Amino acid sequence: MNPFSYSRVADPGEAVHTLAGKPQGKFLGGGTNLIDLMKMGVETPNELVDINRLPLTQIEELPDKGVRIGALARNSDVAEHELIKTRYPVLSLALLSGASPQLRNMATVGGNLLQRTRCYYFYDPAFPACNKRKPGSGCGALDGYNRIHAILGQSDQCIATHPSDMCVALAALDAVVRVRGPKGEREISFGNFHRLPGNTPERDTNLAPDELIVSVDLPAISFAARSHYLKVRDRASYAFALVSVAAALDLDSNKVKAARVALGGVAHKPWRAHKVETEINGKSADENTFRAAAEAELAAAKGYKYNSFKIELAKRAIVCALSTVAAMA
Ligand code: SF4
Repeated sequence: MNPFSYSRVADPGEAVHTLAGKPQGKFLGGGTNLIDLMKMGVETPNELVDINRLPLTQIEELPDKGVRIGALARNSDVAEHELIKTRYPVLSLALLSGASPQLRNMATVGGNLLQRTRCYYFYDPAFPACNKRKPGSGCGALDGYNRIHAILGQSDQCIATHPSDMCVALAALDAVVRVRGPKGEREISFGNFHRLPGNTPERDTNLAPDELIVSVDLPAISFAARSHYLKVRDRASYAFALVSVAAALDLDSNKVKAARVALGGVAHKPWRAHKVETEINGKSADENTFRAAAEAELAAAKGYKYNSFKIELAKRAIVCALSTVAAMA
């Protein structure tokens, strides 16, 4: 591990001031991903600012009936909170499908947003070709073992996937990320928070290095109570998604009035399935409708030597998740 300085701060303003203009510094929350990456030499910050004592653990109702989740709320606390379980079950299910109970007790919402890909080549500094870890070095996964990699939105620079389950649910729910930096506070819509790789795969998000995530706001969506998270993975627990689907439906009798759908495990960022939502709007909530919509969403998908199975898997997962939601009382 490289040498680094460590300090602990007590309020958000002090945290932002401490890392202002220091792109090599990092905020330390639960540390469940960052510390692993530091031990392996993938992340090499020269300064860690421990934010665990900041008053950012609240989960509270907003005046418009939305919910604000503090950036330091632990994943377990969010998953088990009554407001989340009753109004946004898709988020509770997504959180409970991720990691292990011990990790969920440590991991924070802000840290979950900033998880880095689990691409094997990214995690091995001895491997020379990884544009995300070392810009300009190439991409080992393109012609390597790419079973867990992206089928949508990828570039010839990087085909990594985003690992978070929580973020797939937040994408479907149109969450808003509130951040604080040296110039003040701003809000980032969830669709603009994470990035596709393009020519800059080293950048996962549009967050500046010295900006602190303070909360995630969930808008009031009455039909989000009718929602589900489906995760398909190699083993029943403690595994990342090969494909996942977050889905919510507003039904009038058996007709779709509105839908929210997002996919995980298929792209560099949580993939909002806008084509599915548009295709099923106004139609019968049945398997034929869902399958046609899944075909439309995956029409542009591209597989590689070891991950082409994900294209059909994603289509089936979309049908399965939407059918599950449609069958809810
Ligand atoms: Fe690196 Fe991305 Fe290629 Fe993986 S897919 S080796 S993270 S550039």
